[in-house]
Amino acid sequence: MHKDIATPIRTQEILKKYGFSFKKSLGQNFLIDPNILRNIVSHADLTENSGAIEVGPGIGALTEHLARSAKKVVSFEIDQRLLPVLEDTLSPYNNVSIIHSDILKADVAKVIADEMPGIEDIMVVANLPYYVTTPILMKLLNDRLPIRGFVVMMQKEVADRITAKPGTKEYGSLSIAIQYYVKADIAMTVPKTVFMPQPNVDSAVLRLIKHDEPPVKVIDEDFLFVVTRASFVQRRKTIYNNLQSGLPNGKAHKDSILEALEAANIEPTRRGETLSIQEFGKLADALYPVFA
Ligand code: SAM
Repeated sequence: MHKDIATPIRTQEILKKYGFSFKKSLGQNFLIDPNILRNIVSHADLTENSGAIEVGPGIGALTEHLARSAKKVVSFEIDQRLLPVLEDTLSPYNNVSIIHSDILKADVAKVIADEMPGIEDIMVVANLPYYVTTPILMKLLNDRLPIRGFVVMMQKEVADRITAKPGTKEYGSLSIAIQYYVKADIAMTVPKTVFMPQPNVDSAVLRLIKHDEPPVKVIDEDFLFVVTRASFVQRRKTIYNNLQSGLPNGKAHKDSILEALEAANIEPTRRGETLSIQEFGKLADALYPVFA
């Protein structure tokens, strides 16, 4: 086994050797604690037949732990300055491909087909750049990739919103957008001290496992998300008021909104934050003929 990249001393050595300076704008907070890395990887339940997709390898701290546990690792890195570093630090591993790309612009499905032929169990495992956590997750979910799920580090506040249950102040359209696709749990919370440089916010590792079937069947998934976003525009307003202002031509179709709420068995005076994903599904289907 090679010496870990992610110790404070080795990380400092690597940064110094390449004269690397962190870019805050790219969310560069590198992990410097091998125990945390082992823990993150253990939550992904990888086997020697698994594939791992990583977003943002940095200097390879997590990548090398993935390379030790999986058959194949593919990492997307936006920062060109890190490419020679990774070539050096990951040279002991012959099962890693680094792709120089913004993950938001990458054709990840094609990369999986090209780089992981025959691999059936694939997980996304990453210490995400915090400035784009939600767009990255939504992109990878909307891409309908052939993956089992995600184990991803993010700011704790976003992890709380993603895993929130109805009736809590964290519950909102993000909770529903993600819980529609996956079962979401916080696997562990992580102190600031394991990063270099230390971030300003607390962090958590989220485990997201794709549902076999969505928790509610709807006529049109995109329209479900239109309805949920409209329902949370102003959290203090009732669902009836929010739908009037949030749906296209909602004010002109107040009666249709009332009828749809009644058909879905939802009191117009309730607030969006009290509705379960199943109730949103029924409501979206009842609104669909008029507003979609
Ligand atoms: N995995 C490393 C670790 O844990 O030490 C680095 C994690 S650091 C929080 C985030 C990494 O994502 C950085 O290497 C950064 O350059 C990269 N990154 C930022 N935005 C990106 C994007 N849009 N696409 C791909 N990589 C990105």
